[in-house]
Amino acid sequence: MSFSHLGLSDKVIAAIDTAGYKTPTPIQEQAIPHVLARRDVLGIAQTGTGKTAAFVLPMLTMLEKGRARARMPRTLILEPTRELAAQVEEQFIKYGANHKLNVALIIGGVSFDNQDSKLTRGVDVLIATPGRLLDHSERGRLLLSGVELLVIDEADRMLDMGFIPDIERIGKLVPFTRQTLFFTATMPPEIQRIADTFLHNPVRVEVSKPATAATTITQLLVATGRESHEKRDTLRRMIRSAEDFKNAIIFCNRKREVALLHRSLLSHGFNAVALHGDLDQSARTAALEAFRNGEAKLLIASDVAARGLDIPDVSHVFNFDVPHHPDDYIHRIGRTGRAGKTGIAITIVAPIDQKSVGAIEKLTGMKIAWAGEPPRAEEPSHEGERPRHEGRQEGGKGRHGGGRQRGRGGRPAPRHGSPQQTPPAAAPDQARSAQPQTPRPQQPQPPRERTEEPDDGSHLPAFLLRPVSAKA
Ligand code: AMP
Repeated sequence: MSFSHLGLSDKVIAAIDTAGYKTPTPIQEQAIPHVLARRDVLGIAQTGTGKTAAFVLPMLTMLEKGRARARMPRTLILEPTRELAAQVEEQFIKYGANHKLNVALIIGGVSFDNQDSKLTRGVDVLIATPGRLLDHSERGRLLLSGVELLVIDEADRMLDMGFIPDIERIGKLVPFTRQTLFFTATMPPEIQRIADTFLHNPVRVEVSKPATAATTITQLLVATGRESHEKRDTLRRMIRSAEDFKNAIIFCNRKREVALLHRSLLSHGFNAVALHGDLDQSARTAALEAFRNGEAKLLIASDVAARGLDIPDVSHVFNFDVPHHPDDYIHRIGRTGRAGKTGIAITIVAPIDQKSVGAIEKLTGMKIAWAGEPPRAEEPSHEGERPRHEGRQEGGKGRHGGGRQRGRGGRPAPRHGSPQQTPPAAAPDQARSAQPQTPRPQQPQPPRERTEEPDDGSHLPAFLLRPVSAKA
């Protein structure tokens, strides 16, 4: 199947040629003809499947006819985070090179006035996070009554971040007759309810991540002590001894931990940047750019901040904290081993984390191998003492978080992950973690010190030592 059979315009086909894409991905192949036929689409797909182009390409084709009016965008795309919104804008710039369309980004954390003047000029494509969009609308600076097509992207993440009430409000401001494209990675009951309200007789398109994604990931656990400094010590050792290391994303459960770990790694001479919701927009963009272009080798992130980001070619994923929710584990490790490349995912396990590891193994249906000695005795879990949603709220906090808290929207909704909803990327037969092929099993570790060892970074590999300008 080639792109030329999907009904896309010549201009769009030319842009795809320039981008170098030869064949549509399954979600593109299945969704694009329906979008062009003006049908509502329910797309169940996660990042990495090419879902963004599945709506960007037909939208470009459809927008070739007609013109935008001041303050009345023709199409609206809702994204849960500023980074995702910016990524969608990039795709419009990439594929829309031959189109003279006005694309505006309405996200928190950047100047309101610049956004306002863009709206005045007339916008064909408005890409927005829900909170900032409602700000503009409530100030009377934006009319949504001209929206012909609405895209709700990453709906399940919108739910996680407490944006559903905002989405429902926005749904009342767009015309009833508009076309709606609704994308989600999972389908918990609350998302099904929202989909039912927003979509009219939708075509359902469901794809799984390419099987190659997980087959190339080697997963390992490494035991550590219960103290934070012991975990940081273990992480540094793992980074230094990592084989075929190119770059890594390090996941923490809480944004506070992201900031702390970032400072610690910088002080130990590592070339690291951080991504979490308390950073201002320019710091987030700079961090992401430094990591993308290879200037920084380590990116420390929370789940919320990293969600959906398209960061190619990550050789390693480190879970500094074991995720409380096993589906987050799947998302995290999916950041490596992309497009047939091999990747290594190493999870640092403190005694308190053993219950969470058990939940991950139950979900993936396999035992993950230990690099080195497994912990000796399981200690009683204090899981319940930790705030369940800490670290998830950053995107939903305040106006700078890309959304705001309103009524019940202020509180993150209950989690919805379940084994049945997990993308097949982690299907037991697709991952080969039980007997890792390339791990370098660590020798049994000597007892760890209670205090952090002094570390001047002198024994770090040179490529990890380049100075980096990221701000915490
Ligand atoms: P997405 O799932 O939208 O985040 O896309 C994941 C990645 O796949 C992005 O880097 C896209 O540029 C890329 N991509 C999208 N469509 C295709 C295609 N038909 N062929 C190859 N790569 C693609």
